[in-house]
Amino acid sequence: MAIHIPRGTQDIMPPEVETWHLIEEAARKLCSLYQYQEIRTPIFEHTELFSRGVGDSTDIVEKEMYNFTDRGGRNMTLRPEGTAAVVRSFVENKMYGNPDQPVKLYYMGPMFRYERPQAGRYRQFVQFGIEALGSNDPAIDAEVISLAMALYRELGLKKLKLVLNSLGDTESRKAHREALVSHFQPRIGEFCEDCQKRLEKNPLRILDCKKDSGHELMETAPSIVDYLNDSSRAYFEKVQEYLKKLEIPFEVDPNLVRGLDYYNHTAFEIMSEAEGFGAITTLCGGGRYNGLAEELGGPETPGIGFALSIERFIAALKAEKVELPVERKIDCYLVSLGDRAKDYTVGLLQELRNEGISAERDYLGRKLKAQFKAADRLGARFVAVLGDDELEKGVINLKNMETGEQTEVELASLAKQFR
Ligand code: ATP
Ligand code: MG
Repeated sequence: MAIHIPRGTQDIMPPEVETWHLIEEAARKLCSLYQYQEIRTPIFEHTELFSRGVGDSTDIVEKEMYNFTDRGGRNMTLRPEGTAAVVRSFVENKMYGNPDQPVKLYYMGPMFRYERPQAGRYRQFVQFGIEALGSNDPAIDAEVISLAMALYRELGLKKLKLVLNSLGDTESRKAHREALVSHFQPRIGEFCEDCQKRLEKNPLRILDCKKDSGHELMETAPSIVDYLNDSSRAYFEKVQEYLKKLEIPFEVDPNLVRGLDYYNHTAFEIMSEAEGFGAITTLCGGGRYNGLAEELGGPETPGIGFALSIERFIAALKAEKVELPVERKIDCYLVSLGDRAKDYTVGLLQELRNEGISAERDYLGRKLKAQFKAADRLGARFVAVLGDDELEKGVINLKNMETGEQTEVELASLAKQFR
């Protein structure tokens, strides 16, 4: 019986996996430049971490989690996102006591959400994300945003739109919340079931509803910008000032609210404006979550971060027709003729590889011509041909595949020739 891949997942195969490597390497390099260090947390966590950490009125917690009971009867969840786990670890490992503050971390790995699969929406997807914990300086908000923008730009994306909003501090949010409740309450019956629940739990999330986005009350909903108190407004202005200084264009969208229930102050999304990118245009989402560490049992700690998926990154590259240099090339292909020569290539191959020269040989007993074809397919820069005669003389024939030039070199010095 043939067994198929689970719905909403994908096999990432060669050569496409090379694109993944390029993105992952670029991300790691930027993190090193910006001084974010990698943290690796488990793929599964106690379910409670996410209901508390992401907020139980979010889509993620309400309907997208992969939950299971382990053999010990514990409720576990395959992680749907990275922030809650990073903050759990920050608290658990008392990183708030580190001498170096803020604590700047990044993660990269698979996340799991039970979603309705469609383009750009998978049930397993890979997120790269960063978190800066312990600073309330708007400059770090700008830094976090600039790292995401730098990554996209570095790999050649141009049609990007940064959308920014402020959700204010607790006081501003409270005032706004009350205004939202009075706005939606009288006609909440016209909204979806989810929104009816949100009215109680977190009315801000009504603005993020995908089903009711066309309702007339959405347009006229009270805007958070009108409820920001002075310090929240000043904070927001500072973030914008820094982004301008960094020459990162942005738009302010007062309706931008983000997934987490614990977001405050800065919220942002980076979208792709490439034609043909599809209905889902968000590449990256992030924001400030100053209440989260406390919610997870730690001291009050400001935090800000973003998460982006590699899947949507690649979709955007395709939409903008950006070709990344992922050609496959090897330094040397060893062609052998005759049994003794063939045996000899076992050791010779190793010698080359020990010298850092990428090398391959035939393992299928192919004829000369077929071996050359194989070398061609691998994009071999050189082909080294060894027959029993050459072996006798202690030489090997080295062919430069670009120029066609052939030289006889001493077998013992083949590896050195490459250097
Ligand atoms: P959306 O509104 O598209 O559902 P979200 O608010 O659920 O996004 P976040 O939780 O903020 O998304 O995740 C951050 C980023 O992770 C998104 O901007 C997107 O790039 C990516 N992402 C989220 N869900 C998926 C998914 N199911 N498949 C692929 N990438 C995803
Ligand atoms: Mg989602």
